Amino acid sequence: MGIKVLPPDVAAKIAAGEVVERPASVVKELVENAIDAGARHLRVEVQGGGQRLVRVGDDGRGIAPEEVPLAFVRHATSKLNSVDDLERVTTLGFRGEALASIAAVSRLTLTTRQSGHPSEGGVRIRLEGGEQQSLTPIGAAVGTIVTVENLFYNVPARLKFLKAAATETGYIKQIVTHYALAWPGVAFELTIDGRQAFQTTGSGELYEALVAVLGLSDAKQMLAVEGGAGEADRPGPAGIAVSGYAGAPSLHRGRRDRIILFVNRRWVQDRSLAHAVAQAYQTFLPVDRHPVAVLNVELDPGEVDVNVHPTKAEVKFREPNAVFRAVQRAVRATLVAHAPVPGAGFSFSHPTSFEGHAGDQRRWEREGSPELSYSQLGFEAQRTMPGERTPLADVPAPSTAGADVPPLRVVGQVQQMYVIAEGPEGLYLIDQHAAHERVLYDKLMAQWEQAAVASQTLLSPVTVELAPAHVAVLEAERETLAGLGFQVEPFGGSTYRLLAVPELLSQGDPAEALVEVLAEMVAGAVPMSRAAHERLAVIVCKRASVKGGQTLSMEEMRQLVRALERSTAPRTCPHGRPTMIHLSAAQLAREFGRL
Ligand code: ADP
Ligand code: MG
Repeated sequence: MGIKVLPPDVAAKIAAGEVVERPASVVKELVENAIDAGARHLRVEVQGGGQRLVRVGDDGRGIAPEEVPLAFVRHATSKLNSVDDLERVTTLGFRGEALASIAAVSRLTLTTRQSGHPSEGGVRIRLEGGEQQSLTPIGAAVGTIVTVENLFYNVPARLKFLKAAATETGYIKQIVTHYALAWPGVAFELTIDGRQAFQTTGSGELYEALVAVLGLSDAKQMLAVEGGAGEADRPGPAGIAVSGYAGAPSLHRGRRDRIILFVNRRWVQDRSLAHAVAQAYQTFLPVDRHPVAVLNVELDPGEVDVNVHPTKAEVKFREPNAVFRAVQRAVRATLVAHAPVPGAGFSFSHPTSFEGHAGDQRRWEREGSPELSYSQLGFEAQRTMPGERTPLADVPAPSTAGADVPPLRVVGQVQQMYVIAEGPEGLYLIDQHAAHERVLYDKLMAQWEQAAVASQTLLSPVTVELAPAHVAVLEAERETLAGLGFQVEPFGGSTYRLLAVPELLSQGDPAEALVEVLAEMVAGAVPMSRAAHERLAVIVCKRASVKGGQTLSMEEMRQLVRALERSTAPRTCPHGRPTMIHLSAAQLAREFGRL
């Protein structure tokens, strides 16, 4: 087959494929156009997963009648004049491709009336497969309505690849909700197959949009984020502002898709930014859970290249690390400042709420309650550690004002598991295991940061038989293990000898801890990242910390509470569970009917 130039209609369909992947892409482009036109109200209607019909109506500035056919010419746009403009794009669209592309693969009707245009009415244009069918004057309100029917009717290959209508509808819902969150000043309404799916008021309050999109109970758990680079404590390139909402640690999901990010209010799918958010939650959330966040990164348009992806879903930053840091720090600071001590949600009038502990109770009875040695708590060293530390190197020492726990007076221990303490704001129930984990974790991370993890030589080395996968990772990561305090040598075949262990672990079962750490290494990232290291530290601390079912002396409890007060995040353990429950004086008074 010789080389020949493709006929224009074939070329148009191929080009359209870049922009219009599925019905949700149509919705995205039309919504972006409406926002660019300054719309305050935006109505989106879809039928049959968007394949049968997508309609987007807006009250934006409209298109002048004489320019309407031009809007469907490829690379025709009112948003750019020169190449220089491309360096500082402030609109969502800029390529002049969307309308041409959508029209090429559907039956499209656009009705528009421009505000302030000398001709009284509006105009309606119809196209089929990109071919103009008619252009007629018509009475219309100011704004634009675009109706796209029978998407891909002339591209059977694409049609075949569409998923079930419900799935396509899901994508559409996602797009519209994301734009509703990015533009809280615009009222959005989404109707799916004749039924209203959701609506925002356009009040300009992001929180209201959050309620509309996430529902009230999730929205209630969101914390306002305000921050950016360039604060006094660590100057960065000024002009990166991060705003929005981040979920409190109580709110988490099994999937990462609830980290919703905008750059200059353009929805982007940027893995490294999402990762920055996830990192900020490290030790606040249980392992394998993902946060909920809605954040907008605002920066000089010249600092970001939006022209790197056909559907504009990805952007490129001139200084990605600065943006990454700004996001991470803003979220981290919010968490540290706000993470509340969870209030006691139970009522004393329902003794059933204690029944859940019966199983645990039996276990403790079975395992007995070994007396705990003072040194096992490992506090002596802790007292000499610097007080202000943070588990993330990239994060400045957080202002812990809001997250501090007040000085607490230990009252006693219940169920060999909880420490009761009194503070100026009422009663605190502290989970001794979770609290100790937090304290040890801080200690281990601080030692690790200074490359000085205290290691203790075992009096009698322990031999461990390892699985092949564990042998491989042990050989490859011997240095990492040494950094953590594990000293291991081969002892023939798949048997190894454990010569020294992290000092923290000297009382626990070091062989078990080693195997668990190796398993984590196998599952996790190699070479070891900081995040992976933190996960290992979590494992070591879980193994090393005092368990439930251990009686603590008053002095030991005081040491534990003091150390917890000084820790980086006294209210959560490294797994993200709460270390304490707070019963305020007012709550107590209410329970006793004094209020
Ligand atoms: P782009 O958005 O990249 O400019 P489009 O193909 O999406 O390209 O739109 C072409 C032009 O049509 C836009 O530049 C704009 O002038 C006009 N336009 C499209 N949709 C609307 C709308 N809803 N309201 C007003 N003008 C619109
Ligand atoms: Mg556009």
